[in-house]
Amino acid sequence: MPFEMLSDAALRLIAGDWCPDCHQRGFIRGPRGGMAVNIECRNAACKARFNVADVHNQPLWAHRIEKQSEGGADWSTLPPLRPLSERMRLLPPKDDEDEI
Ligand SMILES: [Zn+2]
Repeated sequence: MPFEMLSDAALRLIAGDWCPDCHQRGFIRGPRGGMAVNIECRNAACKARFNVADVHNQPLWAHRIEKQSEGGADWSTLPPLRPLSERMRLLPPKDDEDEI
């Protein structure tokens, strides 16, 4: 699937914890790798997924990734996914860094 980079407008929505697809609020955090984290819209009717690269909690760029229904990975096998807080907080607290 070719990368579909999000527009600046869509990035601003994600930074405010709004889904650019369904315009509802809230993402769950999926796998993190390097400087990017996967997020999924909490709206069960949407579940749009994005891979977001962020610095200092500000998304720099993001692109769409496959929903689970489109063949994306099953995140239910990951450690428990927690909702992102009210403010966009892509980075986990220090004691919550993924082991490498
Ligand atoms: Zn959505």
